[in-house]
Amino acid sequence: MQGFSMSDNVISEDRVMGSAAQKSNIAAAKIIAEIVRTTLGPKGMDKMLVDPSGNVVVTNDGVTILREMHIEHPAANMLVEIAKTQEEQVGDGTTTAVVLAGELLKQAEVLLEKNVHPTTIVQGYLLAQEKSLQVLSALSKSVQLDDVQVLTNIAKTAMTGKGAEGVKDELATLLVEAVLLVREHLRDRVRIVTQSGISDAELIKGVVLDKGKVHSGMPDALARAKIALINQPLEVKQTEIDAKVTINDPNQLQQFFDAEERMLKNIVSTIVESGATVVFCQKGIDDLVQYELAKKNIYACRRIKPSDMQALSLSTGAKIVTSLKELNESDLGDADHVCEKTHDKTEYTYIEGCKNPKSVTLLVRGAAEQLVEETKRALEDALGDLDQVLKHRRVVAGAGACEVELARQLFSYAQTLGGRQQLAVEAYAQAFYILPHTLCENAGLDPIEMITILRREHEAGKLSMGIDIMGGVVDGFVVGVVEPLAVKYQAIQSATQVANMILRIDDVIASKSE
Ligand code: ADP
Ligand code: MG
Repeated sequence: MQGFSMSDNVISEDRVMGSAAQKSNIAAAKIIAEIVRTTLGPKGMDKMLVDPSGNVVVTNDGVTILREMHIEHPAANMLVEIAKTQEEQVGDGTTTAVVLAGELLKQAEVLLEKNVHPTTIVQGYLLAQEKSLQVLSALSKSVQLDDVQVLTNIAKTAMTGKGAEGVKDELATLLVEAVLLVREHLRDRVRIVTQSGISDAELIKGVVLDKGKVHSGMPDALARAKIALINQPLEVKQTEIDAKVTINDPNQLQQFFDAEERMLKNIVSTIVESGATVVFCQKGIDDLVQYELAKKNIYACRRIKPSDMQALSLSTGAKIVTSLKELNESDLGDADHVCEKTHDKTEYTYIEGCKNPKSVTLLVRGAAEQLVEETKRALEDALGDLDQVLKHRRVVAGAGACEVELARQLFSYAQTLGGRQQLAVEAYAQAFYILPHTLCENAGLDPIEMITILRREHEAGKLSMGIDIMGGVVDGFVVGVVEPLAVKYQAIQSATQVANMILRIDDVIASKSE
């Protein structure tokens, strides 16, 4: 990416003013939009990103591309920021937000050339945004929480064109199964674990940890496991103060070791007495404790990440105890099966068959790392969408349908305004066409012809007509190309926000570094 160039209209070396600043910012933002544009939709292409040490990421995901790219221009970075916000807030629609922002700026540029003041454009864009959100709400349909068909369609729409094509249906089915078990906080509680291997996917009603048992003498597998989650070192505590123990008799030394051993054995007997057959410890486990646990046929893992502990608690129903003394039977969780498995030289612990898991794992395998990682990103997009639908329970028709309708209704709204504001709202309306236009372009269809047909259909009252990427038009609701209302909502808001922010800037000044 080009650096921050100060060539035109230079006051000092470090300052670009007025229209030169505006032009440079808009140009940078347009370049960003242009880069991610070719990835939009089911027929979007992928980008290969290579870092200086040769690491490769192949992706179709807008935010991943922008995050991995080396970008210097400050306005371009503002676009990257909205993609990240979109990702954090709703998990999908990042390309849509960036492409729309780029087009809003491109349309604004035309108005700036006609001497429309940036403030007028900004105000017009805000009006148009408000109207768009109203129109979008009116176009949306409500979803029943247990409507597996609709949920599956949402997942499929999100994953279309993202390298998971061959297994998309299977993944969508598994994902919806997972979602219906977990039901809330999906983006944390439906965990996606990738492994190398023959391409397949599996839903684990429980957790998969990327570590094995601590001691080779422990059992490889256990049925009907009783699980203890302990957030305390299973070791003899290091004292806080440095104490010096003077020993002047060999017997004393022996007593000292014996005392330590007794303490360690107490730890083991507390665990055994609780009835636990599996122990997950967030801290370390002493060698002797490991050995004694193994003798008692107890399976144990140490140094478990806090997020994994949380997941284990949610899926098995175990309570995380912070003091071993408090451990008793009612704190234990359950799983049908706990075992260690090795994949590609890495050991994993599977905690499976939990009764009413509030956290589950989708295990995805693929032959190449780049491929499974991209599948994971596609699944995460779909999870974001499903999360939004479970929260807000409304969907809109995708495939460009709602954008065509938004443009149409905004053009008629503009007629009611008059003056320069009308121009701005019309520019905003026009910007929406970039989305169906790009979907067509990426699918090798003639955008002008398709949009003309779509406009005719919408004029005739068929408001959910969108693009059939194989050619022709389809009703998004009928064929199941649907997206959460909240994701489109957020994309429109992010795009407008960043476009307006860039339009308001008339001075770019290099500031002192912190
Ligand atoms: P984003 O990062 O914005 O989510 P995507 O590459 O996921 O970008 O593309 C999303 C767009 O693709 C949406 O406009 C959606 O309606 C459209 N889309 C998804 N599946 C289909 C399909 N089967 N047919 C037509 N359009 C589709
Ligand atoms: Mg998407």
